[in-house]
Amino acid sequence: MTLKTFKPGGIHLHDKKHFAQHLPIEIMPEPSTVTIPLVQHIGIPAKALVAKGDHVLMGQVIGEAQGNFSVPVHASVSGEVEEIKPFPHPSGVMTEAIRIRSDGKSEWHPDMGKEGKKASLYSKEDTLNIIKNAGIVGMGGATFPSHIKLSPPEDRPCDVLIINGAECEPYLTCDHRLMLEKTDTLLEGIFILSNLLNIEKIFIGIEANKKDAIALLEKKVQSLEKKNKPLIIPLKEKYPQGAEKSLIQAITKRVVPVAKLPFDVGVIVHNIATVIATAEAVQLGKPLVERVLTVTGDLIQQPKNLLVRIGTSIGEVIEYCGGCKTDPQKVILGGPMMGLTARSLDTPVAKGVSGILLLSETSIPTESSCIRCGKCIEHCPAGLMPVRIHELSLRSEYEKAKNYHPLSCIECGVCSYQCPAKIHLLLHIRDIKAEINKRSKK
Ligand code: SF4
Ligand code: SF4
Repeated sequence: MTLKTFKPGGIHLHDKKHFAQHLPIEIMPEPSTVTIPLVQHIGIPAKALVAKGDHVLMGQVIGEAQGNFSVPVHASVSGEVEEIKPFPHPSGVMTEAIRIRSDGKSEWHPDMGKEGKKASLYSKEDTLNIIKNAGIVGMGGATFPSHIKLSPPEDRPCDVLIINGAECEPYLTCDHRLMLEKTDTLLEGIFILSNLLNIEKIFIGIEANKKDAIALLEKKVQSLEKKNKPLIIPLKEKYPQGAEKSLIQAITKRVVPVAKLPFDVGVIVHNIATVIATAEAVQLGKPLVERVLTVTGDLIQQPKNLLVRIGTSIGEVIEYCGGCKTDPQKVILGGPMMGLTARSLDTPVAKGVSGILLLSETSIPTESSCIRCGKCIEHCPAGLMPVRIHELSLRSEYEKAKNYHPLSCIECGVCSYQCPAKIHLLLHIRDIKAEINKRSKK
């Protein structure tokens, strides 16, 4: 098997997927309460449409999208609105959220959960509206509203659709399980997207550590009676193979320039879970009220791939998995490289949370002085100079730092991982990005 990959940059990591890769997706029973953040996407937060004491049904819009660069949020249980106030958010800050006490009935709103039409009967505009109204965002962690991503500017037509099945973060296995267990829905979602975008070249990129998914998809694709069959592309195990720009280069050899986006080179990338959620929205009228995530790490009693209602607290998810063997040193939302440390076990599962990782590793090591080895530059898949950006930020020279394109950092964590001086380059670069964004808004 020829394995494609990107270059330069990137690193080889132990994938540590053995904890959960063989475990079929389980459905977690609904919790007694859910806390649904109004911010679950990049863009303007949704606005609460309900008040304390209101009775809501599952799938009901409880947060209204604000403008086009936003998506609605939906109730993931039926029950009573208990509180609307700031709660812990996966990003680590407090944000406005709606807490609902479940009535245990999972009663769908009459507008939702109905059988949809055949996707081909919808116009392009209708399909995009369904995707927006279902609250679909990038579920790999980016939480970019899908209807925006699927509407590239007319002057930059796209001819390639890449489905991202790389799942290159160590430990995470939920996309792997979805490829194995929801294969038909995935393929239906892929054709909904390719019809919508009028794209014939479709690739599904999968890292070679998921041989069963590669074999199954190849078999399914071969049996399709279609002209535009997706091509399955086995990829080398290399981090961050699943980052959009890395994936595009590996599969198409097209290079997305610094400060540009995939559609600038004619490509649209969609993650596995997002494609499946899109198919369910279009074909079943189902909004994004639940997601599959991986609960894993050396400290969890029973690792699982779990279908969880949006808004379930991570504490309850951990408890459902038998709790921890000992107190974890770290609880990470997502993978170990790009995930964020959870500040509270009350933090709810949101649309972009692909994993809960419980590790016994000790926390962040102490930084020492830069030894000018250049490893952070050599391995940065975005072609940046992390050490230079960091140095300029230490001197608060943000204007100068902009010349080194910190906003193009994909936050993969490779620079921090490689740095022999243990400088927390990613954390510093995140701060710089926040500062630059804050200044540009003023
Ligand atoms: S975190 Fe950013 S700067 Fe560091 S290696 Fe990744 S892309 Fe480059
Ligand atoms: S990897 Fe660390 S020590 Fe080496 S140049 Fe970059 S910041 Fe300095």
